[in-house]
Order: sequence, then structure tokens, then C-alpha cells
Amino acid sequence: MSQDPSTPELSVTAAPHRHLILLGTGTSHGVPMIGCHCPVCESTDPHNQRTRTGVVIEAPEGNILIDTSPELRIQLLREKIDRIHATLYTHAHADHLFGLDDLRLFGHYLQRPVPLYCEEQVEQRIRTSYDYAFTDPWPNVHPGAVPVLEFHRIGVEPFSVLGQTIQPIRLWHGKLAVLGFRVNNVAFCTDVSRIPEESWPLLEGLDTLVLDALRDKPHPTHFSVDQALEVVARVRPRQTYFTHISHQLEHEATNARLPAGVELAYDGLRIEYA
Ligand SMILES: [Zn+2]
Ligand SMILES: [Zn+2]
Ligand SMILES: [Zn+2]
Repeated sequence: MSQDPSTPELSVTAAPHRHLILLGTGTSHGVPMIGCHCPVCESTDPHNQRTRTGVVIEAPEGNILIDTSPELRIQLLREKIDRIHATLYTHAHADHLFGLDDLRLFGHYLQRPVPLYCEEQVEQRIRTSYDYAFTDPWPNVHPGAVPVLEFHRIGVEPFSVLGQTIQPIRLWHGKLAVLGFRVNNVAFCTDVSRIPEESWPLLEGLDTLVLDALRDKPHPTHFSVDQALEVVARVRPRQTYFTHISHQLEHEATNARLPAGVELAYDGLRIEYA
């Protein structure tokens, strides 16, 4: 990078873009939900059309995907994201996992295995559900035919991916231990119904928090809107977006009753981070 004082604008134009791109903001059934004809499922407002949960961290050295939703292909095409360089997993529920086969292309494009950063339980689920990627029982295996994957075990210690330091955050999703992720001043915490005491300090000083808020009625494995607002009151991020949203929350009507600095997220929302 140039240190020439006569070209100060260079440092401005060279400032790297960092974004969190919300690929999907819907609960496990998606919105609209098959067979439902409620006003939200029949709404023509695109904010009420929510694919399954996933995020891309767009960093200067590459794109880091969080979770592989069943709509991954549609999401990446919609957001014009051509390459995924690494994938992190929050947990192994079907709505966060079963788009994994679409990672095939990236192994092919990048000519190397796609790194998957996850906990042991997630790795076991992937090895079981995608056995064809790890064994070779089929007669027609040509380049790009199966995902080529490389596991990296993570826990609650920070780790580095593509020049970004990722801080995992232990969360409880009912009785299932899952991970949220923080990168710099933004945190993504989906599929959570309880934040353990040791994780609260990791949420201090956030500019943006993306947080699970399923619906108004309490649920055994997700925060309700009121519970999520209690988290916001304790963490006090500058801005909060609720995600993993059911068809019971209409976008405009819900935003109108949320406090300042708290909004429902929507598919395609881009959040700049430092
Ligand atoms: Zn989920
Ligand atoms: Zn509905
Ligand atoms: Zn889940």
C-alpha cells in the first residue's frame, strides 16, 4: 500500500469492503410456508418472503459462508456471490445443512477442498448425511461430481479464516449446544433460546447484533420477540436485526412496534462491518 502523502485518497479507495450478507432469514419451514394461506404467507411484500437461514461474511480475502441452507443455490445466485472460500456451521439442523451439496462447485472452481469449520457433532452429521463425499461407492465419480471437503474442528476459542478472526459464541438451542459467531463489531446468533453466562462478555461493544426471534409466542428452542428484546436491553448493540423469523411476524407491522434500533432482518440485507 502506498504511503505517498500526495495521494491520500488512495487509502480511502483501497479501504476493503466488509459485509455480512443475510442470505436467508426464515425459520425452518421458510416463509411462505407450504399449505399456509395466512396474510404473511400470501403477502406480496418481498420482506415477507424468507428463505432458510444463512449468512455470507464478505471479507477482502474471500467469502465465508455460515451454514448451507436448502436454498443455498438460489440465495447465492440472487446475491450474485460467485465463490465461497470457507464455510462455518452453527449446528447441524436440516434447515442449516442440507444445501451442502452445492459446495461441489467451489471445490471445482478453486481446485482445492472447501474448508468446513464446525464442532464434532456437526462433522458426524455431515459424514453420515453426505457419505458419498467421503466414500467412493458410485461408478461415476468425475471432477465436480461430489463435494470435496476438509474439516477444521472448532470450539469456543477464536480462530482465523481468510484473514478474519472469528469468535465463536456458545449458545443453547433448547438442549442443543450451538455456536454463534462474532467478527469484529458484528455478531450472528441464530437458533438460540438461552445465552449462557460465559458468553455474555463476548457480546459487549457490538455495533450490530443479528439475533434469533422466531415469533411472539414462547418456543422451546428459539427466543420469542420479547425474550430477544431482553437480550438487546442487556447487550445494547447499536443496531439489532431479528432473524429466523416465522410466518407469524409480518415485516412492516412488526417493525412498527419494535423499539428504535431493532428491526426484522430480511433476505438480502447487507450489513457493513468494520
Ligand atoms: Zn434453524
Ligand atoms: Zn402462514
Ligand atoms: Zn436449529
